[in-house]
Amino acid sequence: MKQSQMLIPTLKEVPADAEIKSHQLLVRAGYIRQIASGIYSFLPIGRRVLRKVEDIVREEMEKIGAHEMMMAALQPSELWKESGRWSTYGPELMRLHDRHEREFALGATHEEVITSIVRDEVKSYKRLPLKVFQIQNKFRDEKRPRFGLLRGREFLMKDAYSFNESFESLDESYNQMFQAYSAIFKRLGLNFRAVIADSGQMGGKDTHEFMVLSDVGEDVIAYSDTSDYAANIEMAEVVMTYEKSQDAPKQMEKVSTPDQKTMQDVADYLGHGLEAGLKSIMFKVDDRYVMVITRGDHEVNDIKLKNLYSADIVELASEERTKELLGTGFGSLGPVGVGEEIEVVADHAVEALVNVSCGANEAGYHFVNVTPEKDFKVNQYADLRFIKEGDPSPDGQGHIQFARGIEVGHVFKLGTFYAENMNANYLDDQGKAQTMVMGSYGIGVSRTVAAIVEQYNDERGITWPAHIAPFQVHLLSLNPKKEEQKQLADQLYDQLKSAGIEVLYDDRKERAGVKFADSDLFGIPLRLTVGKRAGEGIVEMKERASGEQSEVDQSEVLSTVS
Ligand code: ATP
Ligand code: MG
Ligand code: MG
Ligand code: MG
Repeated sequence: MKQSQMLIPTLKEVPADAEIKSHQLLVRAGYIRQIASGIYSFLPIGRRVLRKVEDIVREEMEKIGAHEMMMAALQPSELWKESGRWSTYGPELMRLHDRHEREFALGATHEEVITSIVRDEVKSYKRLPLKVFQIQNKFRDEKRPRFGLLRGREFLMKDAYSFNESFESLDESYNQMFQAYSAIFKRLGLNFRAVIADSGQMGGKDTHEFMVLSDVGEDVIAYSDTSDYAANIEMAEVVMTYEKSQDAPKQMEKVSTPDQKTMQDVADYLGHGLEAGLKSIMFKVDDRYVMVITRGDHEVNDIKLKNLYSADIVELASEERTKELLGTGFGSLGPVGVGEEIEVVADHAVEALVNVSCGANEAGYHFVNVTPEKDFKVNQYADLRFIKEGDPSPDGQGHIQFARGIEVGHVFKLGTFYAENMNANYLDDQGKAQTMVMGSYGIGVSRTVAAIVEQYNDERGITWPAHIAPFQVHLLSLNPKKEEQKQLADQLYDQLKSAGIEVLYDDRKERAGVKFADSDLFGIPLRLTVGKRAGEGIVEMKERASGEQSEVDQSEVLSTVS
């Protein structure tokens, strides 16, 4: 393609609002433009990169038998009311009315839509398992849209869903997706880790996030330096609070939980400190456990809850650990302190925990008839939240290191939540109605583009991995006014094009310095420059990433490039 005909507006200056590399470079190099906070358009070369990432995702999805569809982005509120999420999803869901005052949402995710389609169309076990995916813009009214494509309010997501007959079958689909995700991020050239993610209080094994290691990541992960073990530490802030509070005055008070129904009650009773702005408070439950109560925004089974109290019962590895944690006055900034003096009657605490971990902060949303220990397991990863760098890894192999990560993918076993609420049933081989078991699997395609740039850049611009770059070759004619340069460059352009090589041809009447600077910014892997030695048929070749340079004869260009 000829650069003179393409919309690639480059900028010399770093945009004032762009704090991180990927944001700066994608804007400066003319890949994207912002139209409102967290809302971006992809310009031609940006679209090309996005498509390459999409295609890799597509191929790997199709390999595991997931088929592409495209669901409506505009979703009627009725579906969200069926699932229960109309009232629980919160302000991230963009809601609107049509001219008849009917309520709609712009798709933040598509569990409701796909469940309604499958429930109506799939009736027999013979059609299961079923896997579908789509690649489509999603809308989330993020509280703090920032970092360019990393946290947008409209962004491109690949979302996939599996419908299974049983939890065993779900395990299989989940594993296939997990493998596909690993293949995708590997092909994208990313340095990533699959980490155990926090799935509310339901234990960590049924959901993994794919994290690109990067200092600008908003998540913190703990990983083993020798094995594959890695987990998201959603509550790293707790550790910080803990450290800060060591010198705070301690106020001891002996309390025990009354027989109340919700964690909110328990927390209100015990934890006025939370009202006073403390993020978390820790209570001793018995010698082996402590309870950490946190107040904040939570996600339980993909339901977003605002300002909810949640709690974890943390099993302490040893008596020393207990002393270490309890003896320091953790969380003692508020009017209620913590220490050996404070005891929470374990049964009540656990009961309260179960109520809140499955429910919401609204009356009537709590699970009933839940049996502790049967329906609820102590979160075996919770103790990670207090882990220090260098501690032994929970899998017994190596030691814990911390890193920041960008969540580019998320695989999640949904179980029967949506199928139950929305009546998605099938008939088994005995003709008996059964509830479908579901999984959902997301990749932030546009976020991934930014994550790639975070890992592939230098002081002059982007250094794309070859198969992600918008073009394979950037052909420059330094002075197109000179007939011999123009001729040779035109000729090479035609040759490369007919050989099927993606080539961007800078045929603009610009100074050489401008052309080189733009070329470095774009990050196309190979640059061919036709300049002063065009008369001899000599072309200069330069690899963008390594900076390696050579001169080749025009007759050898094609064989060298392809
Ligand atoms: P985050 O924790 O970053 O808010 P999430 O857990 O809310 O992400 P999911 O619901 O798991 O996101 O969505 C699947 C994927 O979509 C994420 O793994 C991420 O890559 C991408 N994604 C989510 N929110 C955004 C956003 N605001 N902008 C760009 N990509 C996003
Ligand atoms: Mg989010
Ligand atoms: Mg997340
Ligand atoms: Mg997620």
